[in-house]
Amino acid sequence: MSTGEAAPFDATGCLTEAGVTACREAPPGRAPAEIAAHVASCMRCQQRLLETDAPHRTPDGRRRKARPLAPSLGKTLLLAALTLGAMLVALLTLRQLAGR
Ligand SMILES: [Zn+2]
Repeated sequence: MSTGEAAPFDATGCLTEAGVTACREAPPGRAPAEIAAHVASCMRCQQRLLETDAPHRTPDGRRRKARPLAPSLGKTLLLAALTLGAMLVALLTLRQLAGR
């Protein structure tokens, strides 16, 4: 029953390699409807698509961190200051509530 063209879905209903490739090579929003519908409802295939999208796959299966840019120092400091401020406010509120 080989038709030459690989089926997009395997026996479990998930995408085959051919299905993943078809979805990846389609222009954004133009993936075959049946494939898009399945991917939209299946975390496993979403994950596979994302992993296949990675430009450099390591052969040993380890996933590279998908973080193209480190957060800037300024943003980190601002976030830390905001967090500390929020904690201080919470602590002061607690003390006021407990002190009465
Ligand atoms: Zn699936």
